Parts: sequence; C-alpha cells; structure tokens
Amino acid sequence: MTGTVYRRLMHGCIFCSIVAGEAPAHVIHEDDHTLAFLDIAPFSPGHSLVIPKAHTDDFWSVDEDTAATVMRSAHRVADRLRRALEPEGMNLLQATRSVAFQTVFHLHVHVIPRWSTDTMGPPPWPKPVAPASELSAMAGRILGS
Ligand code: 5GP
Ligand code: ZN
Repeated sequence: MTGTVYRRLMHGCIFCSIVAGEAPAHVIHEDDHTLAFLDIAPFSPGHSLVIPKAHTDDFWSVDEDTAATVMRSAHRVADRLRRALEPEGMNLLQATRSVAFQTVFHLHVHVIPRWSTDTMGPPPWPKPVAPASELSAMAGRILGS
C-alpha cells in the first residue's frame, strides 16, 4: 500500500478517496475544484452528489467562495440532469451534522431529479402558519446575534 493510499484510508473519508481516484464513482461533472458523481444508493434515477475536491466537513465549515463554487457546479449538474433525463422537477438537499441526517462528513449537495411517480412524499416540516409576533421575535433574534 502506498503512503498516499495509507493516509487517505487513515483519513477515513470515502469522498476524499473518490476524489483521489482510490474509490470508484460514476463521475458526471468535474472541474478544478469540484466533482459530481452518482449517489451509490439513488433515491431517483440520476440522484447525484456535488462535492468540493478539498475536504471540508459540512456547510458550517466551508468558506463562502467554496460554497459558491459548489453551488455553481450543482447548477451545471442540475442542467445536465434536466437535459438527459427530463425530470418533472428536482430537489437540492444539503445535510449538515447527524441531526440533519448527514452520514458522510465531507460536504456534499444532493441533486435529486423528481417525478410525480416517485416516493418522496410531502415535506416533513409542519404546516401551520406561525403568528406574526413569533416570526418577528425570531427575525429579531437572528438579526441581533
Ligand atoms: P448524507 O446523508 O450525508 O446527506 O448523504 C450521503 C450520501 O452518500 C448517501 O445518499 C449515500 O448513498 C451516499 N454514499 C455513501 N457512500 C457512498 C459511496 O461510496 N459512493 C457514492 N457514490 N455515494 C455514497
Ligand atoms: Zn473528505
């Protein structure tokens, strides 16, 4: 085993291994700073992941420029998936930390083509409209922090 492979495995990040070419992936987009490949367990046909090549854990640990670069690639991937697969819509999804169901701790954005026949169902957040006073207090709390 070479030193590089050993360090990558010690680092323990499967997406770094994909970037390094040490783990297989079906790449659908690549540029200097990002890579996009098919999710190994797709929710829908074409479900893809867009990542920065440089390891960063999640959306809270990434700098603004890298975040913008990843989103630019996500836009390109979304366009490519639309042309290739003609889905009816799509979801962009980013999970930061376990509580938000992040399971791979290398920043990634899911690009998920959607069809009315798929099984995602309605969004899980609650439906009732909050009182204006509650929203006002929350906005004040965020702006004041
Ligand atoms: P998360 O829950 O962290 O937002 O999503 C991680 C995603 O990475 C999951 O959808 C999972 O199927 C995908 N994934 C995990 N390991 C691999 C892998 O080795 N290769 C690919 N292509 N996708 C992976
Ligand atoms: Zn990584």
